[in-house]
Amino acid sequence: SEAKGMTKTMKKIAILGSTGSIGTQTLEVVRNNPELQVVALAAGKSVEQMEQQIREFHPLIAGMWSEEAAADLRSRVADLPVKVVSGMDGLLEIATMPQSQVLVTAIVGMIGIRPTIAAIEAGKDIALANKETLVMAGDQVKALLREKKLELYPIDSEHSAIWQCLQGEDKREVKSLIITASGGSFRDKTRDEIKNATKEDALKHPNWSMGAKITIDSASMMNKEVIEAHHLFDMPYEKIRTVMHRESIIHSLVEYNDLGIKAHLASPDMRGPILYALMYPQHLDYQGDALDLVKVSCLHFEELSE
Ligand code: NDP
Repeated sequence: SEAKGMTKTMKKIAILGSTGSIGTQTLEVVRNNPELQVVALAAGKSVEQMEQQIREFHPLIAGMWSEEAAADLRSRVADLPVKVVSGMDGLLEIATMPQSQVLVTAIVGMIGIRPTIAAIEAGKDIALANKETLVMAGDQVKALLREKKLELYPIDSEHSAIWQCLQGEDKREVKSLIITASGGSFRDKTRDEIKNATKEDALKHPNWSMGAKITIDSASMMNKEVIEAHHLFDMPYEKIRTVMHRESIIHSLVEYNDLGIKAHLASPDMRGPILYALMYPQHLDYQGDALDLVKVSCLHFEELSE
């Protein structure tokens, strides 16, 4: 509404893992949304890419994992007022900095857990891509969120879909969450064929272009969506089902007690879920590929084999 528009303020975000697949797509969302402002960026070792990101987005703090990379970055951006930090201390400083409101955790691996917990303790909302945070520390993170009355907004497409299907509903009336899985790069291979597969074969995901670890985890079906959903939506495991859906058009579904099912459909593009996580509860304009249902024409569902 107009009244709402008048009170609009900038949302200040810090991004851990800004040079990765989710990180760069988050920056694209920021680039196209004047309400979002980047106050900090962190990456592992991609110094050159970080320099470019600093020159475009002007964060107050930038972090690199090794001190060596940080020193290199410091000399490259000596003409700018950015503070360059390193290591876990750097990630923690970024996660808790007073100028940020939302921490986007798009870092890969369990290194994301401590900064996420520190950010919640410091009163930040979390836009979460990092799977390991919920898989390894789900109970602790959820308890802390409850204590601090803060929100964790999922970026992962399946969880974003479930979250959107739950809007306005009473969770006690949910019969089951139905998580769709593309099946990954080995979905049509037999066990014997997989035995001889190479890393390159595993990295060829049929639907998504993502970072290496999550692509491999998709191929081995170790993609952890069920554990994440259990924590995110406080759902017992017996109420979480999975189905293989090779098109990755329905990103997940929620079945209610009256047997009606709500589904979330969109072209496979992480920028939609990223935008929703950052601007919730708004559905803002997004200039991506709209889903053409006639072109899609047919959707398939199969049982996931053991
Ligand atoms: P990428 O491998 O593409 O990117 C990882 C990012 O983390 C890079 O910016 C990398 O920096 C940074 N990083 C790695 N180690 C460190 C470190 N020690 N300190 C600081 N930064 C570090 O991963 P994705 O973007 O694919 O995935 C990120 C997370 O999101 C994962 O947990 C993944 O499971 C999850 N996810 C991803 C999806 C996707 O579509 N890609 C979908 C749903 C969830 P550098 O470039 O310098 O190495």
